[in-house]
Amino acid sequence: MNQENQDQKKAKKKLVLERTDMPKQSPHIRRRNFKEVAFGYTRELAVQEAQRCLQCKKPFCVDGCPVEINIPGFIRCIANEEFTGAIRVLKEKNCLPAVCGRVCPQEEQCEARCIVGKKGEPVAIGRLERFAAEWEASREKVELPELDPSTGKKVAIVGSGPAGITVAGDLVLQGHDVTMYEALHEAGGVLTYGIPEFRLPKRVVRREVEYLCKLGIKLTTNFVVGKTRSLQRLLDEYDAVFVGTGAGLPWFMNVPGESLNGVYSANEYLTRMNLMGGFRYPKSATPIKKHMNVATVGGGNVAMDCARTAARLGAENSYIVYRRSRKELPARLEEVENAEEEGVIFHFLTLPVKLIGDENGWLKELECLKMELGEPDKSGRRRPIPVEGSEFRLPMDACTVAIGNSPNPIIPDTTPELETERWGNIKADEATGKTSMERVWAGGDIVSGAATVILAMGAGRVAARSMHKYLMGEEAW
Ligand code: FAD
Repeated sequence: MNQENQDQKKAKKKLVLERTDMPKQSPHIRRRNFKEVAFGYTRELAVQEAQRCLQCKKPFCVDGCPVEINIPGFIRCIANEEFTGAIRVLKEKNCLPAVCGRVCPQEEQCEARCIVGKKGEPVAIGRLERFAAEWEASREKVELPELDPSTGKKVAIVGSGPAGITVAGDLVLQGHDVTMYEALHEAGGVLTYGIPEFRLPKRVVRREVEYLCKLGIKLTTNFVVGKTRSLQRLLDEYDAVFVGTGAGLPWFMNVPGESLNGVYSANEYLTRMNLMGGFRYPKSATPIKKHMNVATVGGGNVAMDCARTAARLGAENSYIVYRRSRKELPARLEEVENAEEEGVIFHFLTLPVKLIGDENGWLKELECLKMELGEPDKSGRRRPIPVEGSEFRLPMDACTVAIGNSPNPIIPDTTPELETERWGNIKADEATGKTSMERVWAGGDIVSGAATVILAMGAGRVAARSMHKYLMGEEAW
């Protein structure tokens, strides 16, 4: 074989084994701005990546997708440059492709099952999904599917996060009259108030919500079910109600000094930045203080978002303080790597035990203990054990606590008929989403506890199926 043929063979092999890179902002530039980190695939890059898909007869990737997208189908369309077809296939199962393409943990789901990934890197399914959604958005006219004839049934959705949005999208297509109630002044749930602009631009979420409104969903914001109107009263007006109120109640560490100035819950910090636009202050009305040394306690996606936000706000040092090692970090690997590239400093095997303030009540230092790892605990991760006498202090003027959230308590607290679990999660049947209260379904983080966008959407889909059957008289309560 001559050299040219050999080179071609090598190039082809490389193309098959290695995924197509997605261009992104370089770390030293993006560290100081809030623009989206990744630019997304161009048309050429998307087609090149789509051609790596083997179009398996038995596509394991689909088994790995909680909403069962026809993955080979939409990728085949991209490979053939039939982009309208690609978005049509995606939207059969997923009403939020631009969101899922950006934030789903594909590496643990569809891409983890990709056959190409056995020998090389799996097909970049998430990036292709994002490409198809962005391609559609760049068209002048977004295609609207035809709705089934009106059923005359009225449905209320409480909470406009991914779970509520999925139920709303599925039921409106089936001809039901859907109203979505949201406590905040903007719809989208965590997608709007939690995940930062540089990972998920808010224009993307707004576009997806507008699409639902174009399909005929009525959206009522600034409406707290359980306060503005009780769930019981909604049932007087609607044939069925879905509760998707999420897990927005932050946990704290319960250590001395947590009420000092400069200590935030991740929820407060991110809501100020994202929902209230704090990073644009004084152009926006919500201020955020600039801190020089910022610790974020935790190791999940929420923690990475806080630490990367602090860096962008101008912190000289943005730290992650995590009680286990890098291997146990629950955040997506891509986000950990992005944080590292942006200069976030990791203190592994470190547990804050006390927050120390100055004479004016502002945080000054974190007192920490070193940890070592013992046997795996219930989560399967090795349990952190304090090393005796290992106390040390880190100078710090702000600390964000990102160690987890509980379900929002307002509806369970004001609706005694609704059965809950030990941590306040609403009890719902896994196969249907039905709760203990007649005509009330629930799903997403309010049932599962803090999880992921796609799992919330999957739960929404299950509930929507059961609600439709009930509303059509095909299934008794
Ligand atoms: P939510 O998104 O929480 O939406 C619930 C909505 O209900 C909210 O808008 C809330 O205001 C509203 N509500 C609450 N109570 C009431 C009431 N009484 N009346 C009316 N409305 C009410 N997942 C991923 O897959 N990938 C990621 O990269 C990722 N990053 C994350 C980063 C952050 C900072 C956070 C906080 C979470 C992240 N997640 C991620 C998790 C994911 O966002 C959630 O699992 C998902 O949003 C849950 O959807 P949901 O619809 O159940 O609830």
